[in-house]
Amino acid sequence: MAKFLLLLAVSFAFFYWFFSKIGVKKRGNKEVVDTIKCERCGVYAARSEAIVKGGRYYCSKECAEMKG
Ligand SMILES: [Zn+2]
Repeated sequence: MAKFLLLLAVSFAFFYWFFSKIGVKKRGNKEVVDTIKCERCGVYAARSEAIVKGGRYYCSKECAEMKG
């Protein structure tokens, strides 16, 4: 049983190391490319979560639909 737990801990450590390495690489790209500024309130938001309306980016549906 102790051997099994050791094996589990080692494989967990390996996967943690492996995925954190990928995560850092991905996050580095995302910060530069995928950030937009909301036309309404000026908040910076992720492009994947932003609303595009009339060629402009908004942080949320509320901002996109607000007028004036
Ligand atoms: Zn906004």
